[in-house]
Amino acid sequence: MNLLFMGPPGAGKGTQAEVIVNEFGIPHISTGDAFRLAIKQGTPVGMKAKEYIDQGLLVPDDVTVGIVRERLQQSDCEKGFLLDGFPRTLSQAESLEELLKELGRKLDHVIDLKVDRNKLLARLTGRRICKSCGATYHVIFNPPKQEGVCDKCGGELYQRSDDTEEKVGTRLDEYINKTAPLLKFYEDKGLLRQVDGEQEIDAVSKEIVSLLRG
Ligand SMILES: [Zn+2]
Repeated sequence: MNLLFMGPPGAGKGTQAEVIVNEFGIPHISTGDAFRLAIKQGTPVGMKAKEYIDQGLLVPDDVTVGIVRERLQQSDCEKGFLLDGFPRTLSQAESLEELLKELGRKLDHVIDLKVDRNKLLARLTGRRICKSCGATYHVIFNPPKQEGVCDKCGGELYQRSDDTEEKVGTRLDEYINKTAPLLKFYEDKGLLRQVDGEQEIDAVSKEIVSLLRG
């Protein structure tokens, strides 16, 4: 089963990816991990990617596609794969189509975890960190006993500057704008499966597994 997993930051993709991996015995391929592996193994494409990364440059599409090509040809992908974090753009999606054709494979499902923007904002801006001991809390999911105070050491809790509503909102809008054309691309191909990511975690898992079992 060849799957592509989409969904905005905060939608719970990581948790659900783990469920899919356990249920179907296919590897979860995040492009970040694939890059790290290729660089560690010193593959030709990995070395190329490293040159860009070391210079702080954006890795060009053909190199990224090369990394994905190498990863998909490894033996653990024979039964299938769950691709996550790639493609991010329409042109990458087209490259992926070509690559899969070349490998004699095709995507079976593109899963999109849908969560309302305001819900995502609440999830992503709720993190609080202790100034003294670094313990992390979440105002909704893991609140401290007393607001603003660390349970462990009594230290003051703060919000990281990356977690503010403004920063998170910008990140979400970027994601939404960038991926909207991709969702359309896969919808036109009849591959898009939208799952309500606002349900309880177990309910989301059940929905995904039953749609994949079809
Ligand atoms: Zn603390």
